[in-house]
Amino acid sequence: MSGFFKVFYKSKKSGARIGEIKTDHGVIKTPAFMPAATKGTIKSLPPQFIEDIGIQVSFVNTYHLVTHPGVDIIEKAGGIHKYTGLNIPLMSDSGGFQVFSLARSQREKLSLRGTIVTKQSLPAGRQGQKEITSSSTSSPPRDDKKVADIRGEEQPLLVKISEDGVKFRSTFDGKIIEFTPEKSMEYQKKIGADINIAFDECTYYPASHEYAEKAMKRTHEWLLRCIKCKESSIPKFFDGKQQTAKNLVSSLPSRQYLYGVIQGATFKDLRKKSAEFVVSQDTPGVAIGGVSVGESKEKMREQVKWINNYLPKDRPVHLLGVGQIDDIIDLVKFGIDTFDCVEPTRLARMGQIYKAKISIFSTVSPQRPACRQAGVPRRLSQKQKSSLSGQTDITKNIYKNNLEPVDKDCNCYICKNFTKSYLHHLFKQREILGYTLATYHNLYVMERLFDRIREAIGNNLL
Ligand SMILES: [Zn+2]
Repeated sequence: MSGFFKVFYKSKKSGARIGEIKTDHGVIKTPAFMPAATKGTIKSLPPQFIEDIGIQVSFVNTYHLVTHPGVDIIEKAGGIHKYTGLNIPLMSDSGGFQVFSLARSQREKLSLRGTIVTKQSLPAGRQGQKEITSSSTSSPPRDDKKVADIRGEEQPLLVKISEDGVKFRSTFDGKIIEFTPEKSMEYQKKIGADINIAFDECTYYPASHEYAEKAMKRTHEWLLRCIKCKESSIPKFFDGKQQTAKNLVSSLPSRQYLYGVIQGATFKDLRKKSAEFVVSQDTPGVAIGGVSVGESKEKMREQVKWINNYLPKDRPVHLLGVGQIDDIIDLVKFGIDTFDCVEPTRLARMGQIYKAKISIFSTVSPQRPACRQAGVPRRLSQKQKSSLSGQTDITKNIYKNNLEPVDKDCNCYICKNFTKSYLHHLFKQREILGYTLATYHNLYVMERLFDRIREAIGNNLL
């Protein structure tokens, strides 16, 4: 995929690298962070601030956009960039994370209420199934309309899981929506983000080896189907209607690059197998999925470490759903180029203000002998964790009369113009501006962190 990704420099100290991803909507200097624009908006942040903050790329969720406003209107508007005003490179996920995680949360909830209808328990519950129909979930009581997954996202109502994909009922209007590899590709094509993720089954933690292997194999089969879709110049997905080449060109105003997803849960053999398979496919990039789904930080890092040597040297690697500062600093060392996570924006809306002074050198290199001896990624002490991902809880009453800048170590517009007291006041009074100011600052801190990470890699300090 010439021209899409270039590595400019590889650290002499670790697997970290500096590179560049080129899309039709701009260039992304890597390593890079993708703030969540789940429903087509970086929550509370007007798009004109994107440039001030230096946000390079953002991440939209296919499942959410399919349920509302629907992909047809986005396509009609000229794609997600035009529809939302987010004029930067965008990545869309496959919808797999949301549509599969719903199964577990719903069945656990049903199980708790003693009304579960499937005989298996999850995640082992999907073992060997060709098709599971859970009729009691198709018309649940009103209080079950929405359930939240581990990341706090609203989950749709499951109707059917099969080898082919998932059918569920929209939480918005009750419509049945289907996700298959072909549908996911079609939805993502219409959304028009620059980077697409192949449809995958996100394995939940803890999963049995048997289940994780089946989910992994299914993910691989689906990747092949997604690739086939991309290669096909005239897709015929909906209602058997065949699109003309002309329509296809007009519906594809810009290039879209596909990433396959490495799964395998917390099992070393499966992660390696999956990495080998996914990397062997000729996709422009590779993503690592199924991490940060409830396992410990150490386990999450292990999953990346195991496949470190399998990751492509000439293609970008994205880590799905990881964005805690201490994790990022450690995981760029394994060659991760991009990260997406809701953490900085979600914490901002909770009044958690990132501290701008973040040390990126206080972590112990995983290549140090002590760590090799231990055989596992090193643990951070609680003190280290708090120093790396420290934040100020601006809602605390101690800030009520504090007229110092929001963060004296930060040069952002917020910190140059507003005090802790004012931000505290906005949060206590639930003024909407508080969310915007906090989001602006947290993302500014993230972007400056990545500036420093790239610089440190260039100087072989990371
Ligand atoms: Zn600031």
